[in-house]
Amino acid sequence: MAEQYVTGLRDDEETFTGFRRRRLLRTSFVLLVLGIVAGIVANLVLTANTLAIVLLSLSLSATIVAIVHYHLTKKIEVAAVTVTFIVVVSYLVYLGAARHSVFVLYLFPPVPVVAFYLTGRKKGAIFSLSAFMLTVVYLVWNRSLWAEAVFDGGSLTNFLVGTVAFLALVMCYELTIHKAQTSLRKINEALRMLSITDTLTGIHNREWLDAELDRRLENAKTGAGFSVMICDIDNFKRVNDEHGHIEGDNVLKAFAELLGETTSDDCRIGRWGGEEFLMVCEASDPQEATECAERVRRAVEEGDITPDGHLTVSVGVAVYEQKDTAVSIIRRADQGLYIAKAEGKNRVRCVKAD
Ligand code: GH3
Ligand code: MG
Ligand code: MG
Repeated sequence: MAEQYVTGLRDDEETFTGFRRRRLLRTSFVLLVLGIVAGIVANLVLTANTLAIVLLSLSLSATIVAIVHYHLTKKIEVAAVTVTFIVVVSYLVYLGAARHSVFVLYLFPPVPVVAFYLTGRKKGAIFSLSAFMLTVVYLVWNRSLWAEAVFDGGSLTNFLVGTVAFLALVMCYELTIHKAQTSLRKINEALRMLSITDTLTGIHNREWLDAELDRRLENAKTGAGFSVMICDIDNFKRVNDEHGHIEGDNVLKAFAELLGETTSDDCRIGRWGGEEFLMVCEASDPQEATECAERVRRAVEEGDITPDGHLTVSVGVAVYEQKDTAVSIIRRADQGLYIAKAEGKNRVRCVKAD
């Protein structure tokens, strides 16, 4: 539950980024279509610049293809790169077509905005800088326009200084967002870990174990068996009574550590509650599972994790059987534990389904 909740937080962040991109993409589609149509009409009515009309019509067709492709496939990355590309190309077409208007340079600012917001920092920087460089190359290349006093030194300087400042602002903003998202991701990860970790022993907690059981039960549908073992420290109350709660806590920590050292990599361990621990292992037949539990029992018996060196554990084992649920398999492991305690503690008992 807790893991789901925190995973939810992480999804929200992802959703936020995705949501932002999807909205921007839709807005860009609309603005792009309107802008290109306006450009085509303006060229038809005012300048009859055939090349510009052809190029803008191609941009319009590409935009429509991108819109349809996006709606069919929902591939946002492809759509974002395509839209940005069309924006850059359309801007350059306008630049080339509007030979006698310096104002077309003011169409440049939307380019980095679209590029950064739709395609992210790296691609955004590549698109923006490419558009900027191509603009500079165009202006330098067409020096004849300067002679016609279309582009004078003042307007060129305005463009260069304004654009560099604008680019720096957009990049800075994107960087801030990126940093904020990175720290949010780290905080979410820390929260997620906190929500699935037992604070005393540092191993997984009950919430994580519940989720792990669900995962194993889901896998079991494909034939992957597993077993569950409940380990309950024997006479733990006495440890507390004789040595105090702090020492009792230390024993629980040492027990969790020993559990980790004794079990194989396929075993997942966690604190079920109090002085009870749960192991979920791949062992899929009773004998294998019992041997696994027996190794733990022996290690505890032979170890020296209490101040007086003596500690034992009883273990109830249940192996997955068809139609098992989390409740039924835990109930059997619990029955095993009950039997182990009733028979004198410090033993392993496995209970099969009726
Ligand atoms: P049994 O052999 O039948 O399992 O007896 P037991 O004494 O181990 O079991 P019982 O259920 O009677 O007592 C469990 C004790 O575990 C009681 C409780 O105070 C102690 N305990 C539970 N959680 C913690 C904890 O976090 N720290 C400490 N120090 N003690 C805990
Ligand atoms: Mg107990
Ligand atoms: Mg106990």
